[in-house]
Amino acid sequence: MVDRLYWKEAYMKEFNAEITAIDGAIVQLDRTAFYPTGGGQLNDTGTISANGVERQVVDVKKNGELILHALNSSEGFSIGDKVSCKLDWERRYSLMKYHTSVHLISAILARHQPDVKFTGGMIYVDKAHADFDCPLLNRELAVKIIEEAQAVIEEGHTVNSRFLTQEEANLIPNLIKTQPGEDIAKGLEKIRVVEIEGVDLQADGGTHVANTKEIGRITLAKFDNKGAHRKRIEIKIA
Ligand SMILES: [Zn+2]
Repeated sequence: MVDRLYWKEAYMKEFNAEITAIDGAIVQLDRTAFYPTGGGQLNDTGTISANGVERQVVDVKKNGELILHALNSSEGFSIGDKVSCKLDWERRYSLMKYHTSVHLISAILARHQPDVKFTGGMIYVDKAHADFDCPLLNRELAVKIIEEAQAVIEEGHTVNSRFLTQEEANLIPNLIKTQPGEDIAKGLEKIRVVEIEGVDLQADGGTHVANTKEIGRITLAKFDNKGAHRKRIEIKIA
């Protein structure tokens, strides 16, 4: 099983690993800090180097338990090579800030509308959106939520992650916020949770900032009313 370094240390910018498989330009490693696209968060990019050769990591995907690093070329690399890897940190750090922001917004919306259902979201490098099944969510409330989220950001809440057993997870109501998430969690021995202390606790596989203060300033970029059961809040970080 691949050692997922991004779960242990979200701030790891460089790491060493060994190549365990090569298929064309796709490389697998025994351990990786490159986050594969999933849970609404885009993949990392960066470089992998060995033998005096440096290759670009252009995409990272999950395939079951495997993590596939798509390079611009794998020429010069062999299975068993010890490689040094470097993340495009600016990109990853931005994704982390947006991901934590989306959790904040969902949690604050639930304070106003306890029956809200989070139906999906997407985190990009320069924006993020979250979709809600929430008939009473309108632009006015969206503006209020962003204001309240900004206050929480400035309060400086610690963000942490840990693994729970199914039994522990079952004791926490509303831990899993989406239907696909519930189906995935059923098959897992341990469930990773991300907590914004005093604000939110939810099952999540993404990477997050360590403190809400790091986010800076968020703004409402767009509010889309796509029907009673589909409202979209899009945010930007200044
Ligand atoms: Zn998340």
